[in-house]
Amino acid sequence: MDAKVVLAEVAQEVAVCQKCALYHSRKKAVPGEGPTKCEIMLIGEGPGFYENEQGRPFVGAAGKFLDELLGQAGLKREDVWITNIVKCRPPGNRDPLPEEVSSCNPYLERQIQAVDPSIIITLGRHSMGKYMPGAKISAVHGQMRKVGDRYVIAMFHPAAALHQASLKPAVLADFAKLPQLLEQARKGLGRDLQAPKAEEPPEDDLKQLNMF
Ligand code: URA
Ligand code: SF4
Repeated sequence: MDAKVVLAEVAQEVAVCQKCALYHSRKKAVPGEGPTKCEIMLIGEGPGFYENEQGRPFVGAAGKFLDELLGQAGLKREDVWITNIVKCRPPGNRDPLPEEVSSCNPYLERQIQAVDPSIIITLGRHSMGKYMPGAKISAVHGQMRKVGDRYVIAMFHPAAALHQASLKPAVLADFAKLPQLLEQARKGLGRDLQAPKAEEPPEDDLKQLNMF
């Protein structure tokens, strides 16, 4: 099915989903957003206060810092897909429970299949747990690992770096490495080998050729 259609369907479904208790505290579901196809997908934890109001991911203070971090990698928010491990706000911003994460996971999986990123960046412990169960973020942050047919990089959550200034240099350095890691991931997936489309000659040239 067309990726755009899948993403739109997921957005419609999460808006009315009642598969876990988090729907009780939902004002607006936050399905996530980004270009239909892109190479990088970011997975955060869950909507906070402002995200729940607006239905968009990372629009609060952590989001502002995330924009800065993407800037370190020469990227803009519009270049990446951003979503969360749960699409509805946990009350009082508590951690999502394991059963909430597993109830919401099929939506995330459909989004990943549709967007088909080369690199998935997990932001914080909860989304890291999806790909690296039991890992310590202080030990693995910034390292890229092949998981299935994609690459995954666990990063600190931007909000953690806002609350704990000592983490900031590491977070900035991790994002600054992203262009280099993306190059590596493309090679690893053979996505650097796709031949650029041959340019078609302008019509006038074709006419001229036909004259001879
Ligand atoms: N923190 C998250 O993990 N996700 C958001 O969307 C906003 C803040
Ligand atoms: Fe449904 Fe996910 Fe919201 Fe739970 S968090 S109600 S599973 S959309």
